[in-house]
Amino acid sequence: MRCPKCGGVDDKVIDSRSSRDGLLIRRRRECLKCGVRFTTYEEIFREKLRVKKRDGEYEEFDRRKLLAGIEKACEKRPVSTEKIESLVELVLTELENEFGREVPSIQIGERVMEHLRKLDEVAYVRFASVYRQFRDAEQFIDEIKQLGKS
Ligand SMILES: [Zn+2]
Repeated sequence: MRCPKCGGVDDKVIDSRSSRDGLLIRRRRECLKCGVRFTTYEEIFREKLRVKKRDGEYEEFDRRKLLAGIEKACEKRPVSTEKIESLVELVLTELENEFGREVPSIQIGERVMEHLRKLDEVAYVRFASVYRQFRDAEQFIDEIKQLGKS
């Protein structure tokens, strides 16, 4: 980063903190040449993920919806918002590495359950029961559609 005062290009980071949702990182830097301190913001760039549903249709991945679902499962449990956010980031990174931009819907739930289980058993059970209902409903709709075709 170029120093706003002297134009020097060498600096050191003296403080680094992420915003509440973990998507924005604020850094305090100090110019090594003149010592002036300045702030930079770093944003995680994530291309839009698409979710492939069981019926083959696509929809845009909704990070907020997923966060809300996990937060609900973690209600009154000793799981911090930060933990939940890093769980979502971890799941997304895994899915991206494995599937690229188009992720099967079933995989998202499965991955979240896998990690949530290690974090909190109760939250895991809650999430799993909601998720399985949803999955069964999706499967049911699938079957109806299949019936319609034959
Ligand atoms: Zn400077």
